[in-house]
Amino acid sequence: MPAGRPRLTSEQYQERLSAYCTQYCVTAGEGGLPPFPTGRRETEQHRAWMALYKARRRLSDPAGPRERRRRELVAAQGGRCPVCGRDVAATEALDPADAAVPRALMHHACSLAVALARRDGAAVLDRIRAYLWPGDPSSPPPPLSGGGARRGSGRSRGRTGA
Ligand SMILES: [Zn+2]
Repeated sequence: MPAGRPRLTSEQYQERLSAYCTQYCVTAGEGGLPPFPTGRRETEQHRAWMALYKARRRLSDPAGPRERRRRELVAAQGGRCPVCGRDVAATEALDPADAAVPRALMHHACSLAVALARRDGAAVLDRIRAYLWPGDPSSPPPPLSGGGARRGSGRSRGRTGA
């Protein structure tokens, strides 16, 4: 389903519905849909009915259950990736369920780190630390501040004074 599609309001749907009913001299039945135009496949009316059907479905379930679950997860995480602490979107990688931890949405790169640690154990994290900061393995870089949204900011430090 394409994201960012303009949301259909029920008023707009009712307008379309009554336009259809007027044009084809039918009345809407249960579920807010006119009767299916039996025997009229590939006609203008059939196409109009299909458009109405899809609009109706979009109205009752604009996101889809899968997308909604992902949004709920992101909301439960406070909008942050549990690994790096930066903002995370509902379209990011979904870490597979694990007996020890609940499912979480995280950046693809972060999910690779998790997969690595899951496969090789916590010691791999110590080895990464020793590899990245050989002189001072006990002091990792300062943690991300709670403010999030550090993307890009401060990156150009050191290039000033040109
Ligand atoms: Zn992340």
